[in-house]
Amino acid sequence: MNFIAPVSKLIDEFSKLPGIGRKTAQRLAFHVLSIREDQAFSLANAIVDAKRKTRFCSICFNITDVDPCVFCSNEKRDQSTICVVESSKDVIAIEKTREYKGLYHVLHGAISPMDGIGPDDIKLKELLQRLSNTEIKEIIVATNPTIEGEATAMYISRIVSPLGITVSRIAHGIPIGGDLEYADEVTLSKSLEGRRKL
Ligand SMILES: [Zn+2]
Repeated sequence: MNFIAPVSKLIDEFSKLPGIGRKTAQRLAFHVLSIREDQAFSLANAIVDAKRKTRFCSICFNITDVDPCVFCSNEKRDQSTICVVESSKDVIAIEKTREYKGLYHVLHGAISPMDGIGPDDIKLKELLQRLSNTEIKEIIVATNPTIEGEATAMYISRIVSPLGITVSRIAHGIPIGGDLEYADEVTLSKSLEGRRKL
């Protein structure tokens, strides 16, 4: 039996979300139908608000509601170090360690020739631009320990090292193929501490 159109549309939208299968999408859709109208609007508004009120920081490309973001505008942070990550979720993971006090740069992806993602498809040019007029002394590459993350780290090392800036890579307490986002705070903190020069 087919669902009536508005319900079917809602199920379709939920099933596009990461980790949501068809069954869960149906469960969520029927949950929405069961809640009060004001609760449903509040959910819908939260989605619209999150989209409308956030953007990329014009300096580090972290997701932010103010530009520059809280990290870039905080003069107390170490202005000589940039930690390069693949996604904004990784910034949150590293902040949780409370070990790192420098700046960030969010690439929004990693180099992956297999998927046709080259250096120009992520925020690498923007990273290089930042290096030309700042007091940056060290770049800590904290991309994921995957083939793509490693390829990205090597690329960064190749283009940044000649500028006389130290490029280091976080140590691998994080399992190969793993995701920074899921590393616990102690592991991540140790891997920042044990970073090695590239
Ligand atoms: Zn920023």
